[in-house]
Amino acid sequence: MSGIEEFLEELAALTAKHGILIEGCGCCCSPYLERTGADHKNLPIRFGLTYVPKTGRYALDAE
Ligand SMILES: [Zn+2]
Repeated sequence: MSGIEEFLEELAALTAKHGILIEGCGCCCSPYLERTGADHKNLPIRFGLTYVPKTGRYALDAE
């Protein structure tokens, strides 16, 4: 599990900086983005978060 704690620490800093967090769907665990402070009645802001190895970047479903 090497590096995971450090990754989560930096991810938390990124969430604090941008006010955006990564959440997972309760049924299939698919990741999506949500604004911090949003309660569970709020809708996610963007679905379909995917890492693309070829580009080394993250992609989202089209809006
Ligand atoms: Zn699901």
